[in-house]
Amino acid sequence: MVSFKELGLVNTREMFAKAIKGGYAIPAFNFNNMEQLQAIVKACAETKSPVILQVSKGARNYANQTLLRYMAQGAVEYAKELGWEHPQICLHLDHGDSFELCKSCVDFGFSSVMIDASSLPYEENIALTKKVVEYAHQYDVTVEAELGVLAGVEDEVSSAVSHYTKPEEVVDFATRTGCDSLAISIGTSHGAYKFTPEQCTRDPKTGKLVPPPLAFDVLDAIMEQLPGFPIVLHGSSSVPQEYVDMINQYGGKLPDAVGIPEEQLRKAAKSAVCKINIDSDSRLAFTAAVRKVFAEKPGEFDPRKYCGPARDLMEQLYKHKIINVLGSDGKAE
Ligand SMILES: [Zn+2]
Repeated sequence: MVSFKELGLVNTREMFAKAIKGGYAIPAFNFNNMEQLQAIVKACAETKSPVILQVSKGARNYANQTLLRYMAQGAVEYAKELGWEHPQICLHLDHGDSFELCKSCVDFGFSSVMIDASSLPYEENIALTKKVVEYAHQYDVTVEAELGVLAGVEDEVSSAVSHYTKPEEVVDFATRTGCDSLAISIGTSHGAYKFTPEQCTRDPKTGKLVPPPLAFDVLDAIMEQLPGFPIVLHGSSSVPQEYVDMINQYGGKLPDAVGIPEEQLRKAAKSAVCKINIDSDSRLAFTAAVRKVFAEKPGEFDPRKYCGPARDLMEQLYKHKIINVLGSDGKAE
């Protein structure tokens, strides 16, 4: 048994309370490798932004759970070395799908876990979430739950269609489970293809796809039911056109990739939405930078020469999100 406190990590309780009061959101960035983690820590240390490092099932399969945990521990030390005196770093399990997995993360030093039982019938979702909450809270580990279903594909989580969260269920769900935050479905979606062209309209001038707006009426109704309760948005990459263009320019093929417009996320961040998950955008930045090097310098074979530029571009992206979208800069001095 390792407590996250010994590792210098923090849970989400105070982070979220401050974010809701302050009208900003905490970035939740997924990481799978060293370059991504370096970019996240540098961006957050420089902007003094609290951050949630997320580990998904795909990341655990790819990089190994033990290694990822030690990397997060290393991230705290690295942040201090960069001059961030009191790093506010949370290590979070993304889309935990069983009690056993959540327990193993709690026991291993994670400071927050998500139990995603949203695909189960309502009562089973409550029962499983409650069981995880009861275990995690003994060790002061915070728990995110999910109600409603997001469309899209993220590692091994996928659904063809979304079902918006029902505002009339949230009080009952939050009260009976005791969860610390709630991931809701209001039209965000996993992956780089968040909407089919049929779901979008086309800008007559540019021919680009314009996605349907998020269901802010559903968000408002949820906030009315649960005033001040921390709300989480998954699948909130904006799929920046500049990266998609770079990828396509240098030999890639991502036709009609579309995300959530940043002005909508900006609006959400000012509300009770206090955690916004961004994963696909950093994958796009990484791929765009690597493709550019490969196209321009076909003789390059030193991974540091293409992973380095990828890291720089991801750092730029993370800073942009922190400062211009989430507003979390300067909130963890
Ligand atoms: Zn997700």
